[in-house]
Amino acid sequence: MGHKFVDEVAKEEFFKKKILARFDFNVPLENTKILDTTRIDQSLPTIRFLLEQSPSTLILCSHLGRPKGTFVKKYSLAPVGEYLAQVLQQEILLAESVESDKAISLLIKSKKHKIILLENLRFFPEEEQGDPNFSKKLRDLADVFVMDAFGAAHRKHASTYTVIPLFKGKAFGGLLLKKELHSLSYLLNKPSAPFVAAMGGAKVKDKIKAIENLLPKVETLLLGGAMAYAFLKAKGVGIGDSLCSPEDVVLAKSLLTEKLASKIVLPIDHVIARNTEEKDSTQTRETLNSTIPEGFRGLDIGPRTRSLYRSAIIQGKTFFWNGPMGFFENPLFSVGTKSLALAVSEAKKANKDFFSVVGGGDSLAAVKETGLESYFSHLSTGGGASLEFLESGNLVGLTALKGYL
Ligand code: AMP
Repeated sequence: MGHKFVDEVAKEEFFKKKILARFDFNVPLENTKILDTTRIDQSLPTIRFLLEQSPSTLILCSHLGRPKGTFVKKYSLAPVGEYLAQVLQQEILLAESVESDKAISLLIKSKKHKIILLENLRFFPEEEQGDPNFSKKLRDLADVFVMDAFGAAHRKHASTYTVIPLFKGKAFGGLLLKKELHSLSYLLNKPSAPFVAAMGGAKVKDKIKAIENLLPKVETLLLGGAMAYAFLKAKGVGIGDSLCSPEDVVLAKSLLTEKLASKIVLPIDHVIARNTEEKDSTQTRETLNSTIPEGFRGLDIGPRTRSLYRSAIIQGKTFFWNGPMGFFENPLFSVGTKSLALAVSEAKKANKDFFSVVGGGDSLAAVKETGLESYFSHLSTGGGASLEFLESGNLVGLTALKGYL
């Protein structure tokens, strides 16, 4: 049996029912200000759809940050609740407990509330432990379960995994999950060639499986970010003081001996500086080739690499991208990352069928800064989850949904 999504089931499943819906509201916050609402915004179609089904109550839940099993005020979902109340034009009650009687009694006392938001599930240690008793408490809150937290669907947590079997026959996928799976499955199953991928970020270790899985499918894999230095070092190229772990060099070395290694493209020049926090642009330099001198760190791909990667992208028909090309948090080193977004916009303008997916919080943030996000076919809300899906074509949360519909 396949997955069943909320728009594929009879209205009666939701009408006058209590719905518990798991989202990924894990948004970046500064004090109580939400810096990027993308993840919440991408959840809105499912929330609106469920409200249109006239449930008796809609209980929303999510995690936020890493509070490690205890109440940490800065990780409260209160700002998320306020934002949702504003966009949905409805009052939302924040329930600090997941005990059915406590959370629901709040609602009963205040009849005008249709939507409850459970406080950050990771305030409870049982969430990340996938604790069965905690899952049971979640189960007792509602008649129906909706899983729309794509970004957390690779975790075996109570609300993303353990709870699903308890809703046997009453657990459905949300619209965002459907959209994510549709786009990522396209990449895995029938991408139009040439298929080009770009991977960046800090560590090879985190992405090695996805790289191995992508290599047979792509024509070209462009590498950037600190990750690329492990490959350069493995090839005997000097990388100065760039971020690089010995463990990553070992992994890179073994990848480079594989048959498909010829598809891997490494930076041919870099933007370098003595430290990541450099504010003075006159203190940054571009290298002439792939070697980074001692005392310097590689912090972005250089102009010739940008041009090389641009050509590869615009010659492709399908593009997948995860991870920044440099230390993009510092604007002096964000040019390479942004140049990828620019190349995607060019490719899309030249070919309306150009299919591109970008995943991962950092890459998404960089794309948004360029204002070019509309040129991407899909902005994946889950960095880790999208990589894991590309590794195996599945996620544990999905297996659970599939088995217990
Ligand atoms: P990841 O979570 O693995 O995608 O890594 C993202 C992080 O890698 C971001 O915080 C980037 O600033 C960092 N990063 C990317 N390239 C570099 C670099 N050349 N040097 C230091 N950090 C980098």
